[in-house]
Amino acid sequence: MTTLLYHKDSYLKECTAIVVETKINEQKTNENGKQIIILDQTIFYPSGGGQPHDIGTITNTKDGKVVHVIAVRMQEGQVQHEIDHELKQGDVVHCKLDWERRYQLQKMHTACHVLSSIFVKETGALITGNQLNLEQSRIDFSLDTFDREKIQEYINKANQALQPNHDVEVFFMPRAEAEKMPELSKLAMGLKEGVKEIRVVKIGNIDMQADGGTHVKNTREVGTIELIKCENKGKANRRLYFKLV
Ligand SMILES: [Zn+2]
Repeated sequence: MTTLLYHKDSYLKECTAIVVETKINEQKTNENGKQIIILDQTIFYPSGGGQPHDIGTITNTKDGKVVHVIAVRMQEGQVQHEIDHELKQGDVVHCKLDWERRYQLQKMHTACHVLSSIFVKETGALITGNQLNLEQSRIDFSLDTFDREKIQEYINKANQALQPNHDVEVFFMPRAEAEKMPELSKLAMGLKEGVKEIRVVKIGNIDMQADGGTHVKNTREVGTIELIKCENKGKANRRLYFKLV
């Protein structure tokens, strides 16, 4: 099993690792996707929970050859790194993230949790999906009423909630314990049987969720949420786009 360094420290930008397995890339993201490698430990986040995968470089410490990480996927319980040039099993490598991209996604991720939490508290809406991106992110929610002024009001509330420099804590909790907590029980019960520990992301007193993504350390890093547009996707389905300034 690959050690998921990003789960414990989302500010780790570089690490050393060993290539433990290589395979032919059957589902290439583009024509440069030559190979898939598995590492003993990784800082590269595979896409999941609406957060896109990381990109970056991997350097072979023996000859200094640099390969690019084009995509990262969690598949068959493995973090699969898609790379543009081949490496060999046993190679000792140095991994480096495209940190600017990752950090922007972390800000977006924390903003998304805060905004979603305010929506749920204020309206009882159900969050049905989200997609984070560098320029803009999207939240889908289910709500009968659709009032743009109200939506702007919730965004203002989310920005106020971000203000007091709340710490973002990440910790692991036994599943049985999470199932007893109202905030986490629904998610905890939906997890696969084998999952014994749950990773929890707690943003001050604003939000607490079982979550696998990466976040900023403090809400002061997020900036200000700005509404781009709201879309009415039929009956109770709403879609909201926001950016950070
Ligand atoms: Zn999340």
